[in-house]
Amino acid sequence: MSEAPAIHPESTSPAASVSSVASLRVPLADELFYSLQGEGATLGRPSVFVRLMGCTVGCAWCDTKYSWEGPPVLELSAAEILDYCAGRPGSQVIVTGGEPLESPACVPLITHLKAAGLRVEVETSGYIEPSAALLGPVDQWNVSPKLASAAIAPDKQPAFLGWLWRAKEPYLKFVLHKSGEIAEVDALLERYGLAELPSDRIIISPGGKKFEHMEPRLLPLAEAALERGFRFTPRLHVILWGDRRAV
Ligand code: SF4
Repeated sequence: MSEAPAIHPESTSPAASVSSVASLRVPLADELFYSLQGEGATLGRPSVFVRLMGCTVGCAWCDTKYSWEGPPVLELSAAEILDYCAGRPGSQVIVTGGEPLESPACVPLITHLKAAGLRVEVETSGYIEPSAALLGPVDQWNVSPKLASAAIAPDKQPAFLGWLWRAKEPYLKFVLHKSGEIAEVDALLERYGLAELPSDRIIISPGGKKFEHMEPRLLPLAEAALERGFRFTPRLHVILWGDRRAV
């Protein structure tokens, strides 16, 4: 992120205490799946998706409510996840949820993924500040603070997002349902001291579980994003596969 002030994480070394790759158990809300990154800066990139179980954020329009609480769909070892990735050479790994930072498996799993040389993106709401053990290894952060339409409790809003300045590849991603909501994005950037974040680090995406819900929002939101110099990406997986799990 060359344009932004001093963005480099503190150095970290893989924690010696991390469970071994065979013994680490990872509760998942979906089976592992291989698909195209559907949103954000790496839209269209082949990726393995690891959907960790658990989320207490409670967004009204959440499209993965099945990930909120257990029991998990399955539990795999880190070794099994690495094997799956090895069978899809060239793909990156997207650690998502749920809210992946709520999962005790998040830090040790990412430590193993990075030790295997994989590129890792994390999708998070941003309400939990990542530890140094996570901030250092992760290659890209896709942080989605919620707007009023999500109707979440105040304590599920991020208290602080200054850590983005120390992240390697930080992006803020906002899901909007109407173009008037972009004023909320402006206010949020001010509130978190992120008004100086380069505008191409801010991504607007249209909400909607089905293409017919998303389609009328595409042009108005694209134009609203363009006015501010923000990026805009549709949600490719919704266009291609609609309201399906694990795609
Ligand atoms: S943070 Fe993500 S998984 Fe959790 S409720 Fe909101 S949209 Fe759903």
